Amino acid sequence: MDSVVIQTDRIVIVGAGLGGLYAALSLAPRPVLMISPETLGTGASSAWAQGGVAAAIEAPDSPAAHARDTVRAGAGTVDPDVAARVTAAAADHIAGLSALGTPFDRDAEGHYVLSREAAHSMARVVRVQGDQAGHQIMRTLIDTVRATPSIQVIEGAMATTLEASGGAVTGVRVQSSADGGSEEICIRAPAVLLAGGGSAGLYALTTNPPRVRGQVIGMAARAGAMISDAEFVQFHPTAIDTGEDPAPLATEALRGEGAILVNRHGTRFMLDAHPDAELAPRDVVARAIFAQAQAGNRPMLDTRAALGARIKTQFPAVASACARAGIDPEVDPIPVSAAAHYHMGGIDTDARGRASLDGLWVCGEASATGLHGANRLASNGLLEALVYARTAAQDICDTRPAPAGDAPGAAPLAISFAPGGELPDPALVAELRRTMTAHVGVTRTESGLMQALQRIAAIEAQQPTCATLLNMTATATIISASALVRRESRGGHWREDFPHADPALAHRSHMTLQEALALRARAVEESQ
Ligand SMILES: Cc1cc2nc3c(=O)[nH]c(=O)nc-3n(C[C@H](O)[C@H](O)[C@H](O)COP(=O)(O)OP(=O)(O)OC[C@H]3O[C@@H](n4cnc5c(N)ncnc54)[C@H](O)[C@@H]3O)c2cc1C
Repeated sequence: MDSVVIQTDRIVIVGAGLGGLYAALSLAPRPVLMISPETLGTGASSAWAQGGVAAAIEAPDSPAAHARDTVRAGAGTVDPDVAARVTAAAADHIAGLSALGTPFDRDAEGHYVLSREAAHSMARVVRVQGDQAGHQIMRTLIDTVRATPSIQVIEGAMATTLEASGGAVTGVRVQSSADGGSEEICIRAPAVLLAGGGSAGLYALTTNPPRVRGQVIGMAARAGAMISDAEFVQFHPTAIDTGEDPAPLATEALRGEGAILVNRHGTRFMLDAHPDAELAPRDVVARAIFAQAQAGNRPMLDTRAALGARIKTQFPAVASACARAGIDPEVDPIPVSAAAHYHMGGIDTDARGRASLDGLWVCGEASATGLHGANRLASNGLLEALVYARTAAQDICDTRPAPAGDAPGAAPLAISFAPGGELPDPALVAELRRTMTAHVGVTRTESGLMQALQRIAAIEAQQPTCATLLNMTATATIISASALVRRESRGGHWREDFPHADPALAHRSHMTLQEALALRARAVEESQ
């Protein structure tokens, strides 16, 4: 059946996390249509962020120092101009969020309370009520969005496919995100901004919400957009290992407060692994935790001496995740494992927030701007979403001016979904996620990556017309293919068969879906 087609002058934003909400507000009073699969505030990684936002607020810190740490953590592939620009904008965005009502923690004199996180040279992360940064920032933005008449939010809808012609995006297809799905509706718009989050939910062991499974990256790739740095996935060392899916997080700020990592023998194993011990870069800690788990040594985060009872008041999200599993962190160490957490790669995005296709902009974790390189510096994720949301909004206004006078085309859209359509088979999604964790995880090998590509092809072949599954398999294919091509270890990408960094490869990677599919076809051929 042909899709219903709706034409609008509204700017379409796909996704309603920090990037999407902030972009919608930055575009106001320009009319916006925001597509959100869930009720605002749920389904987004943003609402789960615990640490906060990295920002050099005042001396002795400086944007230059923040940029230096960002470049160092990124292991040779950060774009230094992007790092300089993003870190320089940070304090202004924090002031803006404060002015909107975000209750950042402050001391008695009104200065921001700053947390220290791994690989930062000083305490620099602004936080809210201990570990409530994401929840509180999102609450502030959602209240503001709800009170902004130019923003129409459609809750219960998800994008499936970009409409493109001649290398330009002209709109997006959406369907109901309810359990039964629906037929698709095609929305034609002057600009589409993708803010649909990252890919870490493509892994069986992840900290990301179930909606965040690389769908918008795959959607852009299927439309022909360039994807960059896809092999660089960050594994958070301290996901709480109690069998929950997604795995709750024990924020890095706990280690900043002095919590230590021990194994079941009581050995503090990070002392031998890195001079910064528990505050070593994330990839180093994640691999050490993974190695302990593989060796059957049960890694654990011990907060007892550093925090004692304070964990319950200062880190309520961690305390309640522990309580759900019957763990009292005042008495016992918290079992942890390394879980897929953040995708440094994504849709190639330039300094104006543009993707490689005309008419398409990107912000947030779906983007690959060059800020994170091979390893994101802690708490730079929310910052990047803020900076690029505003940048993209500005560029959309500059290049897609609103029609003059009364614009009937910007009237709110009436969307009603007809029954039908196709949703991914949950068993295939589960198999895809297991494949990614088993073969494209903390450590990788050529044979494992080849197996992953073969499995992904087989999964895709079982439901070849389901757009949402194709979005996920497209992203999984590009991550695996990029990991196969990078024959070295760097940042979040660790190849057991190439355990050293190769100076000749100290650059970003770029791959189209077509290129990745060619590698996948070769992997399938070799297996036959
Ligand atoms: C547990 C956890 C803790 C974190 N802590 C921090 C931290 O302390 N500091 C920090 O800087 N970063 C942190 N991060 C990373 C950070 O939260 C994310 O990088 C950031 O929130 C991404 O924002 P976003 O707007 O791009 O995506 P998200 O907030 O993930 O929002 C994506 C949105 O897109 C929607 N969506 C997905 N697919 C579709 C589709 N097909 N159609 C329409 N909509 C779709 C989702 O439902 C959601 O609304 C953390 C992440 C996690 C998971």
